[in-house]
Amino acid sequence: MQAVNISKEKYTRTLIVIAILIILPYLLSNQYYTHILVLSGIYVIMALGLNIVVGFAGLLDLGYIAFYAVGAYTCALFSTYFEVSFWLLLPLGGVLAAIFGILLGFPTLRVKGIYLATVTLGFGEIIRLVIRNWDSLTNGPKGIMGISHPHIFNFNLTSPVHFYYLILILGVATTFISYRLSKSPLGKFWIAIKDNEIAASVLGIDTVKMKLYAFAIGAFFAGVAGCFFASWQGFVAPISFTFLESIIVLCIVILGGMGSIVGSIISALILVILPELLRQFQLYRMLFFGLSLTFIMIYRSRRKIKAKEESFRLENDKIQKKEEISNIKEIFQTKNESAVKENIILEVEKISKNFGGLKALSNVNFKVRNLEILSIIGPNGAGKTTFFNCMSGIEKADQGRINFYEQRIIGNYGSLPAHKIAKLGISRTFQNTCLFESLSVLENVLIGTYIQQNKNQKENKKETLALELLNYVGLKEKSYERVNNLSYGHQRYLEIARALSVRPKLLLLDEPANGLNLHEKEILMNLLLDIREKLHVTIILIEHDMRVVMKISDHIVVLDHGERIAYGTPIEIQNNRLVQEAYLGRGKKVE
Ligand code: ADP
Ligand code: MG
Repeated sequence: MQAVNISKEKYTRTLIVIAILIILPYLLSNQYYTHILVLSGIYVIMALGLNIVVGFAGLLDLGYIAFYAVGAYTCALFSTYFEVSFWLLLPLGGVLAAIFGILLGFPTLRVKGIYLATVTLGFGEIIRLVIRNWDSLTNGPKGIMGISHPHIFNFNLTSPVHFYYLILILGVATTFISYRLSKSPLGKFWIAIKDNEIAASVLGIDTVKMKLYAFAIGAFFAGVAGCFFASWQGFVAPISFTFLESIIVLCIVILGGMGSIVGSIISALILVILPELLRQFQLYRMLFFGLSLTFIMIYRSRRKIKAKEESFRLENDKIQKKEEISNIKEIFQTKNESAVKENIILEVEKISKNFGGLKALSNVNFKVRNLEILSIIGPNGAGKTTFFNCMSGIEKADQGRINFYEQRIIGNYGSLPAHKIAKLGISRTFQNTCLFESLSVLENVLIGTYIQQNKNQKENKKETLALELLNYVGLKEKSYERVNNLSYGHQRYLEIARALSVRPKLLLLDEPANGLNLHEKEILMNLLLDIREKLHVTIILIEHDMRVVMKISDHIVVLDHGERIAYGTPIEIQNNRLVQEAYLGRGKKVE
């Protein structure tokens, strides 16, 4: 009931706000104020667009205003040259801006952080300079005049109030789309990528594609806003699209709390309306920005966490209602196993990897049979994690081949990208847990269920599977907790649940027992045996704890300085002289 009340309350509140916005021009009854509101509406749309790029997907874009310019000039050119209707130009401006977004994104999204920021800054300037200097098309710095206003049949939209209602409709639509995106799988993928790109990619998320979507959707919003702006003003010139404008929109998003939709809207309103009302202080606009930025950042950093905890707590009440939980084993068993020769599902042949002069892996060979637990052991720096990284597509092996279910995943022509390897059914955990910290415990697992190509499976079915998986690793009660609130051991279990959420055929675990106490290790061992037995998942385990290794492994590979020095059953390894010398020091026996 409580959950229902909350959404109802939210709904009512939204309706009240919209109602107020509808009557606002009449309350103000002042053309100038309405004009300012229209302007702030444009910034709201841009801020929501940039919020998707920077806030959701974590891509620092310093040239965002270029997309606004593309929209504005699309409107200006098509309207003055061909007299195309505004109603056609509005989506066209958005689409062209989105295409520019993809053109920019495609070559640049592989660079990150400050490099991406620099490239986008350059892109923004290039667009502005092209507009400024392509006189024959854009009329240069003088700009384009005589852009027609929108009209509906014979009715021309001319007064500020008309434009106010138009931008209100666009603004509400943009807010709605943003909200839906934030709740959609795509929205969660963006947050996952922002939190930890590598962990996202080994779950099967095509990170480059998702980032392109963010760029394209963000650019679309700006294009629409730009088109509206051109038609509203009846005039465009390059002066409206300077670097400073990009920074202002970025400030709005940062002030709004990066990723917060309501925050972006409110800060857009404040940052546009306030300086207009305090005209005599125009000069201090940037100073005002800077100061408020500083204060709000300090204030927000505390508030945001509180707000999140609150929302998790509220959702926690919801989970009590979930009594109907289907059986995870059934879900796992529905997949069809393809038969392979001699039951060998993984063939590793002569894998080598160098880091500069260091041979992290050299000529490593072994085979893994279906449903076995194979352990990789060896001293620190032996190359165990590097092997997992090569196998999951994070690092490129220099040489060698790996076949999975007789399909080449690593070969002479490089490796499949991480997300494709994941989709084939290889899933992994990390030596240092890599969870998505901005997502709840449940959402961490949900992400994986979204990726399964099962179109028939409904959203709530996915949630059921995710809850069931959490239950399986003993974390159901923590479903709506923040990841950082979990104990270290629980974080490790959660990472295993997340790795299972994509229904892998092969699970790679990098030192899962590391940092666990004896009791937790016992639980872990039983869990691994159960995963193999009931969920039919083959496991490769990197582990230091010999008790764990000897107890649950079928075979063991011993690495030392990147070379395979032994392979065999636990008993064989225990009695292997080479292993005793290299791994445990002379005279000691592996126990
Ligand atoms: P293990 O997991 O067995 O402890 P790793 O695979 O992490 O060992 O490392 C093997 C060797 O490769 C170590 O000497 C390590 O310092 C080196 N190494 C690992 N990753 C990198 C990297 N990205 N760049 C340079 N050297 C690396
Ligand atoms: Mg390691």
